[in-house]
Amino acid sequence: MTDVLAVTESRRGTLRDVSYEMITAGRGLADDLGGELHLLVINGDVGTFADELNREGVDAVHTVDAGEEFNHGVYTQAIEAAYGELSPTALLMPNTVNGLDYAPAVAGSLDLPLVTDVVGFDTEDGIEVTREQYGGKVETTYGIDADSYALTIRPAEWPQAEGTGDATVEAMDVEIDESRIGTTVNGFEEVAGGDVDITEADVLVSIGRGIEDEENLPLVEALADTLDATLSSSRPIVDNGWLPKNRQVGQSGKVVTPDVYIAIGISGAVQHVAGMKGSDTIIAINSDPNAPIFDLADYGIVDDLFEVVPELIEEFGGEAPEV
Ligand code: FAD
Repeated sequence: MTDVLAVTESRRGTLRDVSYEMITAGRGLADDLGGELHLLVINGDVGTFADELNREGVDAVHTVDAGEEFNHGVYTQAIEAAYGELSPTALLMPNTVNGLDYAPAVAGSLDLPLVTDVVGFDTEDGIEVTREQYGGKVETTYGIDADSYALTIRPAEWPQAEGTGDATVEAMDVEIDESRIGTTVNGFEEVAGGDVDITEADVLVSIGRGIEDEENLPLVEALADTLDATLSSSRPIVDNGWLPKNRQVGQSGKVVTPDVYIAIGISGAVQHVAGMKGSDTIIAINSDPNAPIFDLADYGIVDDLFEVVPELIEEFGGEAPEV
C-alpha cells in the first residue's frame, strides 16, 4: 500500500525545488507510517522529470502526460485518478500558487480533510501536523481524525532529497474529461522587473533599511556585481519603491534558498526570516550586535555597512562607487 503520495511541481520545463523538498518530507512521513513514498508527476517533460526525481527514498514515480503546463482541471483529475488507484494515507501537495489552486478542489472531491502550509508532522499518537502563525511567532498543531488526509507542504521547510534512487517509473493512463476543464493558461508574461527570479539565485546580496537612502543602492549593486550575485531586499526597500516587489524576501515576498545569503542592514524580523531561513550559509552585516539576524547567521560582521561593503567589493576585485 502506498502510504504517501506526493504531487511534484514544474514550471516552464523545469522541476521546482519544492518537488525535491517534498521527497524529504514525504519519506519522513512514509517511514513513520511504515510504508512507501510514491510521487506523481503531471505534465511537461514527464520522462525527464521522473528520472530527475528518482532520488533516494522514492519507491515509485507515476507520470501523467496530459499537456505542457499547469492546468487546474487536468491536475485535479490526474490526482483524483492516482489517489483512486493508489489509496494513499497521506496526499502531499506543494503550498505554492499552483498547489493552493488545486489542493482544496482535490480534497473536496475526494472528501479528505485538508491542512495547508504544513511545516512539521508527528505520528507518535495518531497524526499531528504543525503550522506557523503570526509570522512564525506561534506554532499550532492539528490532530487529524481520519484514515486518509491531504496536506500542503510549505516550500523551503525541508531540505532537498539527494542521492540516486531505484524507484519504479510508471506512466498512468488518465482519461481527461474535457468538460471538466474550465480554465486554460493562456501564456506567461514577465511583469516589470520580472527579469530576475530571486528564488533561482545561488548567491543573494540582500539589502535592508540600513542602506538609508535609494541613492546608496549602487553600493550594494556593486557588491552583487562583484560577487556575481543577485540583489534582493527586505520589505521596507520595496515599500519605499527603491526595488521592485519581485526582489522582496519574506512572508509577503519570496521564499529563497540560495547557497549564500548576505543580509546587509537587515534586522532579521520574523517576517523576513520566514523567507530566507532555508539558505545554506547566512552572512549578516549589521552595526547592532543584538540584531536578531545574528541568531541565525553562520557568519556575522558587526560594523557599519558603509565601511564594510566597499572593503568587500575591493577584496573581491571590484570597484566601490562613491555614495
Ligand atoms: P529594520 O528592522 O529597520 O532594520 C534595519 C537594520 O539595519 C537594523 O538592524 C540596524 O541595526 C541596521 N543598520 C542600520 N544602519 C546600519 C549601518 N550603517 N550599517 C549596518 N547596519 C545598519 N519584511 C520583510 O523583509 N519581508 C516580508 O515579506 C515582510 N512581510 C511582512 C508581513 C506582515 C504582515 C508584516 C506585519 C510585516 C512584514 N515585514 C516583512 C516587515 C517586517 O516586520 C520588518 O519590518 C522588516 O523586515 C524590517 O526590514 P529591515 O530589517 O530592512 O529594517
